[in-house]
Amino acid sequence: MPLHDFVCRACGHAFEALVMGKDQQVCPQCGSTELTKLMSTFACRTSGKGDSGDAGSSKCSGCAGGSCSTCH
Ligand SMILES: [Zn+2]
Repeated sequence: MPLHDFVCRACGHAFEALVMGKDQQVCPQCGSTELTKLMSTFACRTSGKGDSGDAGSSKCSGCAGGSCSTCH
């Protein structure tokens, strides 16, 4: 599922949004389209793995992308 993390450059609101094709994402708080898409590493906890013992799974619980440096 194409779920991405965004931060609004206008108001700083952070949110997750499903990216469908070329849809322009809009800040749900202020309506701005000036958004920064975050890399998956930003959404992933940096405290290390091991809280659930499934480090071998495809993604960690705090990462939407499944390819961050912490969960691999
Ligand atoms: Zn905003």
